[in-house]
Amino acid sequence: MATNLVQIANDPEIRRRLEAERIRLRKIAGLDPPEHFHRPVERAFTADQRSRVTILFGGFTWKHEDLIRAVFQGCGYHCEKLPVPDVPAFQIGKEFGNNGQCNPTYFTVGNLVQYLQFLEKEGLSRQEILDNYVFFTAGSCGPCRFGMYEAEYRFALKNAGFDGFRVLLFKDSDGLKAESGEPGLKFTVDFGFGMLNALQLGDVINDLIYQIRPFEVAKGETDRVFRETVDGLCKDLKNRKSFEIEKQAPNWAKPKFKSNKILRYTFNAFGKWHEHMWGQDYLDALQTARDKLNSIEVDRTRVKPVVKITGEFWAQLTEGDGNFHMFEFLEREGAQVLVEPIATWAAYLMYQAKANAIAKWPVNRPHAHPKWYQVNKHLANSLGLRKKLWAIGAGEHMWNFFYNRTINHLGGIAHRLVPQTELAELAHPFYNQFARGGEGHLEVGKNVYYTVHKRCHMVLALKPFGCMPSSQSDGVQSAVINKFKDMIFLPIETSGEGEVNAHSRVQMALGEAKVKAKAEFEHCLKATGKSLEQIRSFIEEHPELKRPFYHVPHREGVAGTAAQFILHVSDRINRDTRFRRRARVAGVAIPAASGD
Ligand code: SF4
Repeated sequence: MATNLVQIANDPEIRRRLEAERIRLRKIAGLDPPEHFHRPVERAFTADQRSRVTILFGGFTWKHEDLIRAVFQGCGYHCEKLPVPDVPAFQIGKEFGNNGQCNPTYFTVGNLVQYLQFLEKEGLSRQEILDNYVFFTAGSCGPCRFGMYEAEYRFALKNAGFDGFRVLLFKDSDGLKAESGEPGLKFTVDFGFGMLNALQLGDVINDLIYQIRPFEVAKGETDRVFRETVDGLCKDLKNRKSFEIEKQAPNWAKPKFKSNKILRYTFNAFGKWHEHMWGQDYLDALQTARDKLNSIEVDRTRVKPVVKITGEFWAQLTEGDGNFHMFEFLEREGAQVLVEPIATWAAYLMYQAKANAIAKWPVNRPHAHPKWYQVNKHLANSLGLRKKLWAIGAGEHMWNFFYNRTINHLGGIAHRLVPQTELAELAHPFYNQFARGGEGHLEVGKNVYYTVHKRCHMVLALKPFGCMPSSQSDGVQSAVINKFKDMIFLPIETSGEGEVNAHSRVQMALGEAKVKAKAEFEHCLKATGKSLEQIRSFIEEHPELKRPFYHVPHREGVAGTAAQFILHVSDRINRDTRFRRRARVAGVAIPAASGD
């Protein structure tokens, strides 16, 4: 009996089970110290790998991506953009990712895995893929699922058999101080200004394409011309020579710059800045782009409802299955799409940084309770905040200045950035501006802004399935709609499935917007006291009115492009008639219109 008990106690299987049970019970009882999560250590991307490693990135429009890639290439990196995420990518994301993620996570994570699988099919081994490719993306600490993207990428890559694939982070909260920390990806002055140009050019070109295409006379011309234009700008960004003071300085000064590092760095920084923003090559490239785009013939008398796109950052930007090809669909249905630039997001981050600094200053100020006579402490308290606000304010001014400059160089008709203070003020009664995550108060603020200023006929909010901040905004929007009765607002959840259902809902709301646009146009036409034929024949005599960059002054309270245009043409006819009458009275001969 005793021998049997000893045998049982020494049985390896019984001992293993006993140990496993002991561990389980200790865990339940909380007797073991918890295992903390540690961020996995990423293999470094080092400078010596630059010649063989390709940086992958994606998630923007093709215009942004082509321009960003050109900047990477111009700085000496191999770089490739990922394809636009499609439904198979979404399904791969679901297969290899965690449950319960939001839609953009599945699309973007699946898209990366899908691309790596494609490389494998093309004949690359897994080891070659791990060694010769890295993925470059934005990251954040939340509060929405955006904070989990990095972990999600790693998790899905591991499940798909690409464990160890490098994911480099560019944290939104860190700005240009990128998380990568590896010298393989260096944030130089050339890279920074190149990226600034690429992002702003991408935004402005994206805005222009949606302003021009609905009115093009020759179908397909806009796409063709924009393709050529973006290629031309990419060539400039890629081949731009870097400014180096050691080469540009006169011979007598060269040794000074060689020996003095600070002097060299300072002059190089300003020289590069000037070269990127005011360099002749860049200005010439912009002029060529402007001339090309202005050659497209447009007919702005077509009545189209203007649909403002808002919603979650990725869903309102992507041009594929991620939002059911919504922009293409809207244009097919006869609408003019008003897209959102990425620049708004950067402006929002700066505005929030300022608002947060003010709100938190009572706690963050260097001297908590200075006595009334401690003037130096009061001064330090007051100046500390001011310094912070001035620094962010300077960033805001520069951002807006360069954005407006890009607009002016490319025809001057793209939309300016909406003032962030106004957006926050309009949203605040419904959505607290300090509620962070996703687009924060922007969705509500934009909805109110575009409605009260009559800048569109309908607001379409594209929000991904499972998006927490957007669901919160939607809850609030019912109160907003209740207050602004003539608002046409439609939220669409882009779940990766159910495209037909989404399109049909948009069609219904668009029907109302079309009626609104038509009524506005007829009202304006009546106000001119002219017939459409009269207006059209004046346009025929004045070909400059058929050019997209012909500037039509904005009239408050009119949303439609056609309505704005006929009011302006009518003004010109009136002026022209008066001019002709005066000329006739004075006996002066008037030459025929000479075109543009
Ligand atoms: S904003 Fe919404 S969709 Fe975008 S990452 Fe956050 S939770 Fe996901």
